[in-house]
Amino acid sequence: MTSSYSAILFFQKVKTQFPITSSQYFYLFILAAPLFYTSSIKAQMQEVSNPLTYSVAWKQTAAEHRALFHQGFNIATMRVQQAIAERTDNESEKPLAVITDIDETVLLANAYWGYLIDNNQDFFDDTSWDQWVAYNEFSPSPGSTAFLKFCENNDVEVFYVTNRNQGEKTFQLALNNLRAAQLPFAQPANLRVLRSTSNKEEVQSTIREDFEVIALLGDNLNDFSRKYYSTDVDERAQLMSEDSARFGNEYILFPNPTDGHWIRAIFGQSEPAPNDANRRVLRDAASKERWNPNTGN
Ligand SMILES: [Mg+2]
Repeated sequence: MTSSYSAILFFQKVKTQFPITSSQYFYLFILAAPLFYTSSIKAQMQEVSNPLTYSVAWKQTAAEHRALFHQGFNIATMRVQQAIAERTDNESEKPLAVITDIDETVLLANAYWGYLIDNNQDFFDDTSWDQWVAYNEFSPSPGSTAFLKFCENNDVEVFYVTNRNQGEKTFQLALNNLRAAQLPFAQPANLRVLRSTSNKEEVQSTIREDFEVIALLGDNLNDFSRKYYSTDVDERAQLMSEDSARFGNEYILFPNPTDGHWIRAIFGQSEPAPNDANRRVLRDAASKERWNPNTGN
């Protein structure tokens, strides 16, 4: 419905319910009509200025996004091949394994993010996410299925380690998601679900007791080590750079421009509320470095 049409309907209703003259009606219309146009323009602005749009458009359309997944899984495959080649016949060797995150690593939720954009939401929404999870409409990320099958065919165990919380059903929902996407190793013994913490180190240590872990795969530095769990953007970057040699070796990172602990570092929390104060925080983050043509720097 256009703003002018809704304004006319509103004033016609006023005219029928209140005994005002035609001239009073005319002036009331002239005085109040701009309010309808202002609210309409504001709604349209929200639709086109959603700060989440660029990130989601990249996820949904960029071949580069998909290529980075292939790049990650190609590196992971090489790492597995290398580990197999280095095997000896020593019976004390533990069997090989890979630990991978689920969300935005082996499964993509592009349709969920598209829903947020379509619904004019500019921040992650936990309530609708929990509903989405039950629909089993995740897509395998590009290259994930082939990599996981490669592991399966070469007797390399894969463990899915995720921190999710949809209540008591969390484990089964995650398992259902993996099975619906027809990923190998989609069985309870290969799934670890952390509901009350995002710290994955304890589970990683437990797996390492019985397996030689070749690599960790994830879209969040926290999928590799808890040391990156910092709410200071610069400190987080510094901690990462100290481990730069690990990336592409034991840490294999996939791109995620919409969510993760990089959001937490900006806002102080992983799921910031959709309010103007947080939109200003996001704007400040996006202009952390900025050119000023008047000063030349
Ligand atoms: Mg993830």
